[in-house]
Amino acid sequence: MPSDPTIRVRIAPSPTGPLHIGTARTALFNYLFARHTGGTFLLRLEDTDVARSTEAFEKDILEGLHWLGITWDEGPGVAGMEEAGPYAPYRQMQRLPSYAAAAEQLLNADLAYRCYCTSDELEAERHAREAAKLAPGYSGRCSTLNSAERAARESEGRRGAIRFRVRPGIVGWNDMIRDRVEIDTANLGGDFVIVRADGNPLYHFTVVVDDMAMQISHVIRGEDHISNTPKHILLFEGLGYPLPVFGHLPLILNPDGTKMSKRKSQTAVADYIAQGFTREALVNYFAFLGWSPGTEEDVLTLDEIAERFELDKVQKGGARFDRERLEWLNGQWIRRLDDEDLVERLLPFTDASFAAGQIERRPTADEVRTLLPIVRERIHTLAALPETAGFLWRNTVAVDAAAIVPKRWDAATTVDGLTAARELLAGHDAVTWEADELEPPLRALVEARGWKAGDLFMAIRVAVTGMTATPPLFDVLVALGREQTLGRIDAALALLASA
Ligand code: GLU
Repeated sequence: MPSDPTIRVRIAPSPTGPLHIGTARTALFNYLFARHTGGTFLLRLEDTDVARSTEAFEKDILEGLHWLGITWDEGPGVAGMEEAGPYAPYRQMQRLPSYAAAAEQLLNADLAYRCYCTSDELEAERHAREAAKLAPGYSGRCSTLNSAERAARESEGRRGAIRFRVRPGIVGWNDMIRDRVEIDTANLGGDFVIVRADGNPLYHFTVVVDDMAMQISHVIRGEDHISNTPKHILLFEGLGYPLPVFGHLPLILNPDGTKMSKRKSQTAVADYIAQGFTREALVNYFAFLGWSPGTEEDVLTLDEIAERFELDKVQKGGARFDRERLEWLNGQWIRRLDDEDLVERLLPFTDASFAAGQIERRPTADEVRTLLPIVRERIHTLAALPETAGFLWRNTVAVDAAAIVPKRWDAATTVDGLTAARELLAGHDAVTWEADELEPPLRALVEARGWKAGDLFMAIRVAVTGMTATPPLFDVLVALGREQTLGRIDAALALLASA
């Protein structure tokens, strides 16, 4: 792939919540754009909202992105790696002097001014505007204070916030995804605060100062930021920096087309990881949230996606999150992983199931590896293994007497069938306990008695697993072993006798 040192993109998460699928998708598209063009991808933590930012969220975001394989060329350290890059530090709270300097520059150029309005005054102004049916916004009351008036307010002990002067007119840009976007600055709510009275710089300001400092060439982020972009453009102009190229990605929507919310939708990446989605399937799926290669290909590695990825092919309309498709993709990836890798990824899920008391025995890596041929195609998530094969790791299975009796059979036929089957199975020893040895005698039995194989096999299946849907029966019996199989058939017969 080409190399272009002028292309620099970033993901700038705020550690005010766990890694959100929207952030992961935006990070991925930036990463893919950088990989495809040979540019640089950096991560910056926007942690100036001190009250809501936590170290735990920061860790969740950094480790989540790293786990997905969306790695940054510059940014904070993760997983034992050090912070790296020529524009460190990559945490905004460690960059406060640069915001102070930029604010000073704007004040000196009279592109920003101190505003001494108290919150009560602003509140009163808000009510007055509401009553007059004016759009919400700052009136600009402090914008014309002269130095004597400012000095008078400061001598009262007022610490002014810093507001940026919004110039009248249209702000427009050629968006990589949405084409031409134009917004009248009259709709921006008036001169906006860039530094609070307590000295804390705010998002619109820090994002621009850092994008300048870090030489960001393309700002690729969610469509929810479109209304912020004009403010950023004004700030870039004010600070005298050439505008980056903007690209606004479509929103991720619920399957019914409504907006996602933390309450209604599963938005934390950690929850998908906990449910047994693989990183390959997640990045593969996230890439398809708004983009497609324009071919029939759907199962692609991160490298393959990076090769094909074109930002201007990203769709404008919202991208519906389709969990079924994600599960299907996950199943595809589970089929593609090599045995050792898959076993290693499955064990934490069987361990968790053991810890939760859902299974009574922890399967070993060897046991899980042996099972792969019969379970791999049946599980869509890693967490589904203990659901699909958990009967192997319980001492007994909960069986419902009624469920053992196949639909076309009555209890007496079922007892008859299970007794005869048990006798044939008991005739095998450990050496002949193999699927192709166990099956023919049972088929011959069915034939001789005029039964249907499906009925006898279902009765045996339910007796030994407690479930009606399992991997192929004879593979199940082999995995269970002779003693467990016979013991469970005996238990089922005892249950039928007492029912
Ligand atoms: N910290 C902002 C966010 O998390 C970054 C937005 C941007 O990319 O400019 O939404």
